[in-house]
Amino acid sequence: MKKTLLSLVVMGALTISVNAFDLGKYGEMKFENTNDNLFIMHGPAMNPSKDNEGFMNNPSIIEGEHGLIMIDPGGNYNVGKKILAEVGKISKKPIIAIIDTHKHGDHWFAGKAMKEKYPDVKIYALQHMIDVSKAGEAQKWYDILERLSGNLSGTDKEFPFPEIAIKNGDVLNIDGQTFYIYSPKRAHTDTDVVIVHTQSKTMFLGDNLMKNRLGGFDESSSIIGNIKLIEEVFEAPELTRYVPGHGPSGKRKETLTPYLTYMKAVIEGAKVALEEDMEAYEVKEQVKAKLPNHQDWDEFDSQLSKHLQKALGELEQLDE
Ligand SMILES: [Zn+2]
Repeated sequence: MKKTLLSLVVMGALTISVNAFDLGKYGEMKFENTNDNLFIMHGPAMNPSKDNEGFMNNPSIIEGEHGLIMIDPGGNYNVGKKILAEVGKISKKPIIAIIDTHKHGDHWFAGKAMKEKYPDVKIYALQHMIDVSKAGEAQKWYDILERLSGNLSGTDKEFPFPEIAIKNGDVLNIDGQTFYIYSPKRAHTDTDVVIVHTQSKTMFLGDNLMKNRLGGFDESSSIIGNIKLIEEVFEAPELTRYVPGHGPSGKRKETLTPYLTYMKAVIEGAKVALEEDMEAYEVKEQVKAKLPNHQDWDEFDSQLSKHLQKALGELEQLDE
């Protein structure tokens, strides 16, 4: 009897630990009910690593009448399975649709686990996102994330490629929920969609918005385009909530202003370098001095150097 009771307790404890998405020093990852039928899991806002298992984005769930719609499921198959277990705690409905905000694998690779459990799930993204991902971008991101986190096993062969193309101006009606799709030509990448979920008055900006962390601006991106996009969001009517690709979501000003301030300081610094015929690294210290509140952002120092170089390149191209 004693033995049975003990084994039950041990089994119970094991079940609890297996069922929690425990990310060590970053704590337990959970979906928060932020707004009516909207749930967001805020991953740690930092570079992918072994410690965070390659999970650092903000998977979001919108509960419809019959099923769940997911935005940016996460960074790999293994965390995808843990996220799925957390989804089960907020709703027993199936995941019927996924919208991927852009081509970077830290946002969409976890869709592999969702597709395994729900083979009929419909995955949406911009046509160009689908094309470049299939043409090698998915493999490139697999290699980057595997090197940083060592947790990509099971994610490839085959990648969870989106199969339904969406475009700028589309209005998606999925299970009674309405999503407006906006696609800037070139901002964080050239594959981005910004999504407005009407019922919860929430805007999902993908990596066109980050807070507490900086990421790369690759060759397909435009810092100038990203600034323009954020300024357009400020000109539009204010919504209830803004969800960045990485970092906490919140009201418009508190969530958007820090990243806009950062990008504007980078462009201003690059302008000085261009006018004074200086190298990007030569203006770094003066740009840093203008950003006292950003210096504890993850990757601040290393990304600032790269971003200044990128911004200078963009200004030089405008000049030609
Ligand atoms: Zn990205």
